[in-house]
Amino acid sequence: MAIERTLSIIKPDATARNITGKIIGRLEGAGLRVVAQKRVRWSKERAESFYEVHKDRPFYNDLVQFMTSGPIVVQVLEGEEAVAKNRSVMGATNPEDAAAGTIRADFAENIERNSVHGSDSVENAATEIAFNFEDGEIIG
Ligand code: ADP
Ligand code: MG
Repeated sequence: MAIERTLSIIKPDATARNITGKIIGRLEGAGLRVVAQKRVRWSKERAESFYEVHKDRPFYNDLVQFMTSGPIVVQVLEGEEAVAKNRSVMGATNPEDAAAGTIRADFAENIERNSVHGSDSVENAATEIAFNFEDGEIIG
């Protein structure tokens, strides 16, 4: 088992419904520790850049519009197998497919407005963390 860091984002559908605390409680309850956190609102350019991997997907423009529609909470989570553990607590992308008790099963509105982002590999986590935080902002 390895201690990892992963990037987590609480998306605008969740900040709008004032459920950031509930979501963070789920993450902490799973043994993940918040070692960096800020509430921001992304520009269109910033959202386009973060989701560039999806730029050829049909949902890309809508996703950028959604992610810039309100505040988000970006955070670095640390813990044993943090990348996989976060994905497990989040649940499947589509809440209709998400396992019972996961964040997306309980809070997501639909496949787009699905409340949380989580890095999908240790390598992507490092890139996504560097995109959002300076080294000095991460206090382990
Ligand atoms: P995940 O967030 O589970 O890693 P993806 O990386 O595949 O999922 O997609 C990034 C985000 O794009 C999703 O979390 C969701 O907000 C949105 N998205 C993915 N697939 C669709 C879709 N078919 N229709 C609308 N939005 C989607
Ligand atoms: Mg993804």
